[in-house]
Amino acid sequence: MGGPVACSHGPADRPASAAPVALVTGASRGIGRGIALALARQGYDLLVNYARDEAAARAVQRAIAELGRRAEVCRASVAVPADREALVDFTLEAFGRLDLLVNNAGIAPRQRQDLLEATEESFDEVLGTNLKGPYFLTQRVANEMIRLRRDGVLPTARIVFITSVSAYASSPNRGEYCISKAGLSMAVSLFADRLAEFGIPVFEVRPGIIATDMTGPVKEKYDRLIAEGLLPQRRWGLPEDVGRAVAAIARGDLDYSTGQVIEVGGGFGLRRL
Ligand code: NAP
Repeated sequence: MGGPVACSHGPADRPASAAPVALVTGASRGIGRGIALALARQGYDLLVNYARDEAAARAVQRAIAELGRRAEVCRASVAVPADREALVDFTLEAFGRLDLLVNNAGIAPRQRQDLLEATEESFDEVLGTNLKGPYFLTQRVANEMIRLRRDGVLPTARIVFITSVSAYASSPNRGEYCISKAGLSMAVSLFADRLAEFGIPVFEVRPGIIATDMTGPVKEKYDRLIAEGLLPQRRWGLPEDVGRAVAAIARGDLDYSTGQVIEVGGGFGLRRL
């Protein structure tokens, strides 16, 4: 997927970052881009990860530089074990620290297919990218964070998973996506539980209907549902809405709330009469 790992190196003798560093997977477009820019405004340096579209990743790198922060770019698929290792190795080599992991990269099924017909191939692809990838990326990063905290390099460390309202809302024409997000929600509980003793809080940010390339193919359907009142707050969500939620976590405002879910969905999850 997307060719071999490719990471941009700055000058080799660069010192370790004095600023906190965030690795955002899938930061070249959509929600990940919104998160990366919000974190740059918050004073973070960024590792901008992507899978295919280098030009988009470079544009995010430039936008971060315009905000006065440093960004490095790395093409690596979260679905590929060797890519994940290279991504973390590069981040540590380039910045000397990693204070925040945002597991954002994710895919929709290539085709929406009914539950009674959908294929194992699509199941494996979606689960590999959306669940297995971030699960094992987090395992590696967590071990690095534990080490860096023990060595006194990291004053704080935090992990965020971007899931979806599909973690609980059934869409029988993309069951594999729903299952991947429900599984990721449990990954949040597991890592929050395991990492609490190391002072590493873990959070779930659960977007609703957000205007990105991913929702482009179903824009008219969601336009109609929103106009008909699906959401108490009657508008599409924006990548910036998700970015602001992650920025609040990155500031440490929620540090005593490990394992909690923040839904960014305009009230989608409210039960209503
Ligand atoms: P998007 O616009 O399709 O962007 C996806 C991003 O992920 C791109 O930067 C893409 O990079 C990257 N990516 C894809 N596969 C990757 C892989 N294997 N390894 C590394 N990066 C990869 O998607 P989005 O709407 O921003 O969604 C971001 C996350 O939010 C996903 O986890 C999605 O499930 C979740 N979410 C979205 C919505 C929504 O309404 N949009 C709602 C709830 C949850 P390339 O362009 O280089 O491939």
